[in-house]
Amino acid sequence: MPRISIIVPVYNEDENILPLFYEIKKHCPEDFELIWIDDGSTDETLTEIQQLSFHEERIKCISLSRNFGHQNAMLAGLNYANGDYIITMDGDLQHPPSLIPKMIEKLNGGTDIVFTKRTCTKKTNWIQRTFTKLFFRFANFFSETKIDEDLTDYRAFNHKVLESVLQLQEKETFLRGIFTWIGYKSDIIHFTTSERMHGKTKYSFRKLIMAEMNKIILFNPNLVKFITTIVGLSIIVTLFNIPLWQLISPANSYNFSTWHILLNLLVVIMQLFLTVMIFKLVNISLYNNRKRPPYLVKETINF
Ligand code: UDP
Ligand code: MG
Repeated sequence: MPRISIIVPVYNEDENILPLFYEIKKHCPEDFELIWIDDGSTDETLTEIQQLSFHEERIKCISLSRNFGHQNAMLAGLNYANGDYIITMDGDLQHPPSLIPKMIEKLNGGTDIVFTKRTCTKKTNWIQRTFTKLFFRFANFFSETKIDEDLTDYRAFNHKVLESVLQLQEKETFLRGIFTWIGYKSDIIHFTTSERMHGKTKYSFRKLIMAEMNKIILFNPNLVKFITTIVGLSIIVTLFNIPLWQLISPANSYNFSTWHILLNLLVVIMQLFLTVMIFKLVNISLYNNRKRPPYLVKETINF
């Protein structure tokens, strides 16, 4: 039976540590190592993991020196995984461990990566949901790698895949994109996400949008096309904003309606978005040149 490494990044999830461990134990074959990555938690997360690790050697932990973000924390876990099969999952029980046997079965059957796709039951407000969806589609349109918006960070893969991902050594990581980009034989399991067991989501609307921007920048070989499209759209909206009749009848030129103001606002938003995007791009280049590591390890347990 192949050895399994389960990687779980956690940030302030103290109430979820024990329930998740028992759930994993229930569904996973005996020979597994559970690698928690404590991403600079400020609650009792690390203490909970430490207590568990006293009794169980297969409970391991990488404690980062501060909060480096979900993706970097997961990358840290990948660097420490020893198993023949590796599973990454969230620490809030939104990724049900009951899928693990099915994932292992598929890997045993010759699949290299098993992705999971969620049907969302999250109670996010509809404006946020619609906006995120539109943004996803927009970002995907310009991406070289089309990333399915419903794919999650709950996935299982073999050691060959792990080596390929680690070989990339990217500093600004968007792992869902990377796992799609590398290719290999893959399969998908569908599941329904439930509400998180305890605590609140750590992904604010702002973080989600920033992650999307990363996706556009990191997976788009033709950024110029993207930027030109935004500029083009801004010009079209601006022109549309000054209807011809106003040009013909200058008397009405200053008679701006709410509609005009909204369109103006849209142009301003697009331009600001572009500015942020360009700054982010410069920032990523600078960051990569500086050769700073994507995370720093404060201590490890049971390694
Ligand atoms: N997480 C992390 N570092 C962060 C933010 C989140 O390690 O800076 C962990 C978090 O504890 C959880 C997983 O990443 O185990 C997914 O986060 P969350 O559940 O908040 O995201 P959502 O499910 O709302 O997209
Ligand atoms: Mg969650």
